[in-house]
Amino acid sequence: SRSAVFAPIPRLGLICLDEEGSAAYKQDRTPRYETGWVARRLASITGARLVAGSATPSVATYSQAVNGGIALARLTERVRGRDAHVELVDMRDEAAEGNRQPLSRRLVEVVSRALEREEQTILYLNRRGMATFVMCRDCGRSVQCLGCSVALVQHAEIEGLVCHYCGYSRAMPSVCDFCGSRNIRGLGMGTQRLEGMVKKLWPSARVLRLDSDVARGPDSYFNVWETFSEQRADILVGTQLVTRGLDLPAVTCVGVVDADLPLHFPDYRSAESTFSLVAQVAGRAGRDGRSSRVVVQTSNPEHYALQCAAEGDYQGFYEAELPARKAFVFPPFADLAVLTRTDRDDTKAASSAREAAEAIATGLLREGIDGIRVMGPSPAFIHKLRGEYRWQVTLKGDGLERARHLAPRGKDWSFDVDPVT
Ligand SMILES: [Zn+2]
Ligand SMILES: [Zn+2]
Ligand SMILES: [Zn+2]
Repeated sequence: SRSAVFAPIPRLGLICLDEEGSAAYKQDRTPRYETGWVARRLASITGARLVAGSATPSVATYSQAVNGGIALARLTERVRGRDAHVELVDMRDEAAEGNRQPLSRRLVEVVSRALEREEQTILYLNRRGMATFVMCRDCGRSVQCLGCSVALVQHAEIEGLVCHYCGYSRAMPSVCDFCGSRNIRGLGMGTQRLEGMVKKLWPSARVLRLDSDVARGPDSYFNVWETFSEQRADILVGTQLVTRGLDLPAVTCVGVVDADLPLHFPDYRSAESTFSLVAQVAGRAGRDGRSSRVVVQTSNPEHYALQCAAEGDYQGFYEAELPARKAFVFPPFADLAVLTRTDRDDTKAASSAREAAEAIATGLLREGIDGIRVMGPSPAFIHKLRGEYRWQVTLKGDGLERARHLAPRGKDWSFDVDPVT
């Protein structure tokens, strides 16, 4: 696991970082660290070699490779199996033609065919969305922050939407800003509901579910995988847990039930997450060379992240993503750090975060430190966690460690470099 990077190995020669850029490498509680960052430091201190591998490298790492900061080796051929055929299904058409179900007619057809042939299906649904952002069902766009180009987050207590980077807020609109439709609403359907729906649609199919609720038991994660890989089930419904690991040769159908969830996730990496999600999920199919299909349901089929993922075109994605990162000054063009204040009292958390933001801003001015922007405070994406409220101040710019001494420390505070939402 990620803590292995701290193992005291006397003569370290090589560090391999598989699935570079995966969010699993980030430890988001104290001590906070990103395994890739630690591995790079470790390699430079000890002189060990570092090999980072991924089918979907992070934009920040890939840009280093392109710019010569690290050497780049490309695998141009698939090691085994053959590429799945990826189709994007436009859910706006489904809605227009009266299908308000979460499964498109095309996906239902492809799953039915796999069942007839006694082949297996994975239906993937990322539940992290939790209906916290708002999307137009007719044009597929979400309500965004004009300054940060990320989806605004719905917050019940202010009856409106907030940008969790810069703190900009506005009332919940009653019609879509882009197309005027009234058909806008919060997104989110859990895997449990999807499982129920799947069982109703295909009553004779054997259906399994894998998400963090199911996986909580000591053996249940492996039990589900074992049952599925021994083909004692036909359809596996699950969260990102199903995108990892194992070879499943009988899987010939993969459905991404809602590719809009990661696309509108209020994080500057949302396009990157969408690309890698679809690319990874597609990689789960076609392992033994049988022809297989991946159906990606979206209201944004023209989005470059989905277009490129459907083509398996990482380079194309990278080239389309870079200008957006540059325009809104996100990594690799700047570093990002978030200072979070936690308190049982919401008002106290907010006011003390505000004081910190002001203190940092005046400190930067006083000490003549430039190139760092202080934004917020804003409520954290998950505003209330375990009974405590969280407000945050975002720092953006170069050499953020120059501002570290200006940020308060203590048990109510955390300072997170390049946080994963
Ligand atoms: Zn619209
Ligand atoms: Zn809130
Ligand atoms: Zn913003």
